[in-house]
Amino acid sequence: MEHLRNLTEDRPTFVTHLECGATGERYEADVLHGLSAAGKPLLVKYDLDGIAGALDKETLAKRPPDLWRYREFLPVRKTENIVSLVEEMTPIVPIDATAAETGSSSLLVKDEGRLPTGSFKARGLCMAVSMAKELGKTRIAMPTNGNAGAALAAYGSRAGLESYVFCPADTPEVNVREIALQGAKVWRVNGLINDCGRIVGEGKEAMDWFDISTLKEPYRIEGKKTMGLELAEQMGWETPDVIFYPTGGGTGLIGMWKAFNELREMGWITGDLPRMVAVQAEGCAPIVKAWQDGVDHADLWEDASTIASGIRVPVAIGDFLILGAVRESNGFAIAVPDDEIQDAQERIAANDGLLMGPEGAATYAGYKAALEQGLVDPGERALLFNCGTGLKYPMPPADQAINKDLPIDWDEIGSA
Ligand SMILES: *Cc1c(COP(=O)(O)O)cnc(C)c1O
Repeated sequence: MEHLRNLTEDRPTFVTHLECGATGERYEADVLHGLSAAGKPLLVKYDLDGIAGALDKETLAKRPPDLWRYREFLPVRKTENIVSLVEEMTPIVPIDATAAETGSSSLLVKDEGRLPTGSFKARGLCMAVSMAKELGKTRIAMPTNGNAGAALAAYGSRAGLESYVFCPADTPEVNVREIALQGAKVWRVNGLINDCGRIVGEGKEAMDWFDISTLKEPYRIEGKKTMGLELAEQMGWETPDVIFYPTGGGTGLIGMWKAFNELREMGWITGDLPRMVAVQAEGCAPIVKAWQDGVDHADLWEDASTIASGIRVPVAIGDFLILGAVRESNGFAIAVPDDEIQDAQERIAANDGLLMGPEGAATYAGYKAALEQGLVDPGERALLFNCGTGLKYPMPPADQAINKDLPIDWDEIGSA
């Protein structure tokens, strides 16, 4: 495959060790790890000078346009362990008509709906599954609101691993079926994603599976980190002023922040890093509440409910890392109601022809609210994340019909 041309040789990886995201305690690389001894996420550390010595921007520019172009920044050691469906670089799409409506100079959307399995979960899961393979696991499991499970199923099958997936009972039918069709065993659970997570945790002993839950293994972050690497490269090694990210477990926000910091440490980007904004739905906004309360940890959000199922995450194990990135970057967290999410989705689709998922649409609702509250300036270069294709979600009805056997009323069609 042309796209994977850069994968024909083993490249050295520059991973030095892993570190507890909370305590900094050091862990050996190349051994299977879940959480740290403190029960917190582990972060992968690299020899950044080594990367800078082995790779330059010109060499990188010549590589095929997929996520594996950043191989030196990634943890997989052996090429034979890479599990890929060709994770192409996703485009940055300007939404000028919508920007004009809000009086902004420009508004950009990174459209992640174009990745394999229709969401950016592909980035995290191609990495986690590749590493599970490299470290010798044959059985993997996770809780999911839909998109992560679909990606786990796809990459798990491709790697020849056995995948077990647990999702909330009201997960959209399309997600449950795509998971099953792509070869995973899938169950609906009468609860939310944290209840599903508990089942995965409890099954570890009986089932001997590896828990690939958000941030409970170290490598999904590394896959999501490529969003930050890609963004910087696409923008000519600059970054937007402010990034609006629909935040559930927060892997993407944490991963991008890690990418920007690694690039800055290497001297590949300079100046201020983007302000990171965590957008949540009003019906499930634990991170926003913790941000407002000025605390590092978020309490479990009771009775979580929103149409944006990808961000219906009542409790996030990486809460302190999300809040840390938001604060360090001089960003903020903001919650938006479901009706504004729906309205945002319709506005952007009708104005600019871009069909966002509800989570992506939430970032625009958050952007608008932030403009009104003076949290962002219309002149700031803002970038929104659309994390999954809008096609996977139920859409508003469109039920006009014509009877071909009767004369057609053109006036009615013209005034529809
Ligand atoms: C998982 C998901 C999110 C949330 O991503 P995190 O990085 O886990 O916070 C947002 N949108 C969609 C479509 C998702 O599938």
